Amino acid sequence: MKIESPKLNLHIHSKYSDGRNSIEEIVNSALKKDLDYICITDHFTDSWKADHIPNLNNIDKIKRYLEDLSRCKDFLVNENKKLTLFKGIEIDLSSSEKFIINNIVPNKYDFILFEYLESFEGIAFVKKILNFWKKKYNSDFPLIGLAHFDPSFFITRGLDVLLEFLKEYDVIVEFNSSYPQFYSPKYDIFFNKLKEKYIKVSIGCDSHHISSLNDIESPQKMIEFYKLGENLEALIASLEFKRITYLNK
Ligand SMILES: [Zn+2]
Repeated sequence: MKIESPKLNLHIHSKYSDGRNSIEEIVNSALKKDLDYICITDHFTDSWKADHIPNLNNIDKIKRYLEDLSRCKDFLVNENKKLTLFKGIEIDLSSSEKFIINNIVPNKYDFILFEYLESFEGIAFVKKILNFWKKKYNSDFPLIGLAHFDPSFFITRGLDVLLEFLKEYDVIVEFNSSYPQFYSPKYDIFFNKLKEKYIKVSIGCDSHHISSLNDIESPQKMIEFYKLGENLEALIASLEFKRITYLNK
């Protein structure tokens, strides 16, 4: 008998940024689709993108976003649903350090995604932010992940530097169904290293509409293809830890 692995989609956008649905609509749809774990990860940026896509660009909006998420989270707990909702955010790495530090309190989130890590400077930038946060907020630290990570920048130069960073900071690599080119077998050297180093992997669909909430089959298959099942299980254990910690609060 094959035990079904949990269904997760940890990369979803709502109306708080460029998604089409409210958080409530997303939660209701995820319940119907029988998902186990979802995370809403709306955009956060003050780069040129900020003028083109709606995003979490001020403290008041972030506050409403987090309150809305808390309300839906508690609804699921109180109704004894098997679906768990996590609070996330997706930080554009072209944002300024000041904007990130001034607006994001990390332990208010379960999962923080960084998008567009494409250089050694990017690694240094993320490290700087994480070191700052870790010094200031040491309890309830969120899980940290890389959204739709493109391995091509590191594969020919400095793969070891990247892997060391992922390991040291316990950074999760996302299999994003909207960007299957980034988990293509041509990058098997990278994915084999993830297995060897036991780096966590996650599944996200970058859903901007409820119709794609359950597009998890392709990432699931590729995680199996690279034999990263244990790496995914390690992530699920962390999600369970977050879920139980919240219940005991
Ligand atoms: Zn996204």
